[in-house]
Amino acid sequence: MTEISRRSMIAAAGGAIMASPALAQPAAARAAPLPERGAKGADILGPTNDPRAAEEPFTLAPPATDHGTMPNLKWSFSDSHMRLEDGGWARQTTLRELPISKAMAGVNMRLKAGAVREMHWHKEAEWSYMIKGKARITAVDQDGRTFADDVGEGDLWYFPGGIPHSIQGLSADGIDGCEFLLVFDDGGFSEDSTFLLTDWLAHTPKDILAKNLGVPERALGKIPEKELYIFPGPTPGPLSADLMGGAGQIPKTFSHRMLAQEPIRTRSGRVRITDSTVFPASATIAAALVEVEPGGMRELHWHPNGDEWQYYLSGQGRMTVFGSESKARTFDYQAGDVGYVPYAMGHYIENTGDTTLTFLEMFKSPRYADISLNQWLALTPHPLVQAHTGLDPKQIDALPQTKAPVVPS
Ligand code: MN
Ligand code: MN
Repeated sequence: MTEISRRSMIAAAGGAIMASPALAQPAAARAAPLPERGAKGADILGPTNDPRAAEEPFTLAPPATDHGTMPNLKWSFSDSHMRLEDGGWARQTTLRELPISKAMAGVNMRLKAGAVREMHWHKEAEWSYMIKGKARITAVDQDGRTFADDVGEGDLWYFPGGIPHSIQGLSADGIDGCEFLLVFDDGGFSEDSTFLLTDWLAHTPKDILAKNLGVPERALGKIPEKELYIFPGPTPGPLSADLMGGAGQIPKTFSHRMLAQEPIRTRSGRVRITDSTVFPASATIAAALVEVEPGGMRELHWHPNGDEWQYYLSGQGRMTVFGSESKARTFDYQAGDVGYVPYAMGHYIENTGDTTLTFLEMFKSPRYADISLNQWLALTPHPLVQAHTGLDPKQIDALPQTKAPVVPS
């Protein structure tokens, strides 16, 4: 392939991502790097996937600080199988796609206006971030208490394990339905093995159904013979018409406006943290929405309470994960990618693009927690820190005692 056709292919790939301007600014056209660093390495003589290599420059030519064998910590939803249905689609990133991700799994789903992710439940708790558009969600709990809400961009929902619920795309602001990210608190989750209302009805004897529902068997002629999963439904009316009474409203609301939270602001970014302290229903998933301006960096840190599942919403970034025993590996990410950091491993995420890098961090935990390297050093006796680092005492004194989750370039 000529250099020109290779570059134009990469540009075309970038152009395709441009289709969603509000979210995914792509990577400007990038040429594939060579696997060379100084005197080390050599060019590639055999076959190579240049567009893919261009997305992973630090995999092909890692920094000298990378070392050892680390598990894979990256998956792109573009490599996930798409389940196409009448009115939408779903694709998932679970431990089957990303084997290290045992603690959490993710599903990316699109519902056109009116399309329903059918009434269902599952063993795992479900946390969600609305990426674009609007949906109506409903649920009923074990005490007959009810929930219904309309959720839009940047809103969250959380359904505890076993609680039945539904999601339906709405038409609003010129957007035909919605697209969202679901995160489940078990990496073994599969979107294809949830408990579906129609699947159950199809596998229950008709006389039993008739007895249970208190209707004659002949009333059951329209029960689907197999699951609907995603299907076009009736366009819902105003939310007020869908607020069912029952035993009252669910006390801890299942929805949350994440963007309404005032962010932690630093010179080069913003961070919103949502855990059970501000969203009490979310008992098993804590999250942060992080925005990093060009050149800025989510500082060196780790989490004392579990694995981190990341979803990149816009821009491009680079993360090196330190895994003890001299192990470290660097990964490049862009919008639509999933990143993963195993429990306690140190990491940073640098904005390597020229647009805002936006990503979500999720944890299987009721509380968000991170340990900041800078804060740790600043709050440890400085002669001790100097003995480790050789830094000038004035530089150690200048380290921030309060966390700045995003540091400037
Ligand atoms: Mn669900
Ligand atoms: Mn982190």
